[in-house]
Amino acid sequence: MMIDKSARIRAIGRPTGNIDGRKRPIREVNCQGCGEKIKSTDDLSEVEYVKTKRGSEFFFHAACRDRVWQHGIC
Ligand SMILES: [Zn+2]
Repeated sequence: MMIDKSARIRAIGRPTGNIDGRKRPIREVNCQGCGEKIKSTDDLSEVEYVKTKRGSEFFFHAACRDRVWQHGIC
């Protein structure tokens, strides 16, 4: 199933106060591995999305995957 990661960031992320090219609010989340910001307008092809059984939603760079599992968030 394809998840629209940009839409999920816009749904649960923090507002940045900016608007994208389609006049939608740009929101941001933090990578669970490195802590860097991931914005709804970023290239998300290398960003992974996880929803846990408890309903929490996480984003992280594909390159940060190992660190995320070490933290044991999922
Ligand atoms: Zn990262």
